[in-house]
Amino acid sequence: MRIPKVHELKEKFFQLFPTFPISYFTEPSRRVAQIIREKWQKGEIKELEDSYLENLIKEVFKEYETPYLKRVINATGIVIHTNLGRAPLSKKAIEEIVKIAKYYSNLEFDLKEGKRGSRYIHVDDILKEITGAESVLVVNNNAAAVLISLNTLAFQKEVIVSRGELVEIGGSFRIPEVMKWAGCILREVGTTNKTRLSDYENVINENTALLLKVHKSNFEIVGFTEEVKIEELVELGKRKGLPVMKDLGSGCFVDFSKYKLKKEPTVQEVLKAGVDIVTFSGDKLLGGPQAGIILGKKIYIEKIKNNPLNRALRIDKLTLAGLEATLRFYRDEVLAIEHIPVLKMILTPKEKLRKKANYLRKKLEQLKLFDFKFKIIETINKTGGGALPTLDLPSYAVAIFSSLSPQFIQKFLRENEPPIITRIEEDKVLIDVRCLFDEDYPEIIRAFLKFKNVL
Ligand SMILES: *Cc1c(COP(=O)(O)O)cnc(C)c1O
Repeated sequence: MRIPKVHELKEKFFQLFPTFPISYFTEPSRRVAQIIREKWQKGEIKELEDSYLENLIKEVFKEYETPYLKRVINATGIVIHTNLGRAPLSKKAIEEIVKIAKYYSNLEFDLKEGKRGSRYIHVDDILKEITGAESVLVVNNNAAAVLISLNTLAFQKEVIVSRGELVEIGGSFRIPEVMKWAGCILREVGTTNKTRLSDYENVINENTALLLKVHKSNFEIVGFTEEVKIEELVELGKRKGLPVMKDLGSGCFVDFSKYKLKKEPTVQEVLKAGVDIVTFSGDKLLGGPQAGIILGKKIYIEKIKNNPLNRALRIDKLTLAGLEATLRFYRDEVLAIEHIPVLKMILTPKEKLRKKANYLRKKLEQLKLFDFKFKIIETINKTGGGALPTLDLPSYAVAIFSSLSPQFIQKFLRENEPPIITRIEEDKVLIDVRCLFDEDYPEIIRAFLKFKNVL
């Protein structure tokens, strides 16, 4: 058998997809030639039929044209799923991002004065208005916020942290490592489960620059424990003339305990306690785009702003557009909960989730597929994303009963377009409804219909 030459394959591609220039097909043609060669060597094909070649070309080109980064359907029930892109944005935030992406903007232009302006002012007033902060800086993400704050406030100096708060957020973000790369000297105090104010006080010396508290955002130490209240640390800082910083991690503006959920310290409360610097993410409980928000006393924020690292860590215009639109909703909590998907998903009433699950179950039953049976089961969701670690959100999922293995079903759904990400519990694939958008339901039903092609 003769393996077709690349230039011949390019002609064939061009016949099938004439809207592209022929030169576009060099790489996909190489891939097709490679596949044919491999299959021929393995003895899987002996003759190259036209219809086979045409299908192969279509298949290869479809994959070639599909973006790697794509939308997926989150059927895991985990609202702020780090692997699935954390916070989906509100409609308004998306619209603003599109506008700013498409056109020129006043990113660094003062429209009143007609001269160069600052990119940082766009979210300045709104953040002050919502939180009561004296000063504001936003950077690329919260890891950057922590890094630049430490580097500015305590370069080559000691930072005191409780041993119970030397957290790893995931990946390479571990407090001791960040401290090292920020050029600071970590001074651990207390033990894993107990740290007292005297532990901090006893190690303060002339080289101490900062007292740091890190929110235990993705775990909780329970039992025989003691930690220093932020107010006490603030008082100690004042007495010793040292700034106090709190890395809040998820950083939320809404008091979840009002909605019968576990208490998570709000940004407003932490600032009210008198902390000098607080840092948190834009895309965790806040429900905005990836960003790191630094709030606090003007003297410290100004220093951080002027750190040359700020240029490397700076926030981009699309993030700013999305962040400003998200923050505007927080002027009124009712609006925030109505429009910001993360808040809406966390606070969806259980009864509503049950109705959604029942709707999906019925639709799937109606397909009468193979030996599939669908049942509604109660589940427990986590918010995820390093937020509210011990909070259990009761939810509902559609469980799939079939003689097919749950691994097969899960993989099949994952390979759908758009991929549907599920979890397996007690040998059943679960489709949790908490994080489903209205437009996800027909996609899920379409995905199940495709089972007909393989069974
Ligand atoms: C998530 C988290 C970070 C890192 O924030 P990113 O926005 O992911 O960079 C830092 N500290 C704490 C406590 C966190 O929970």
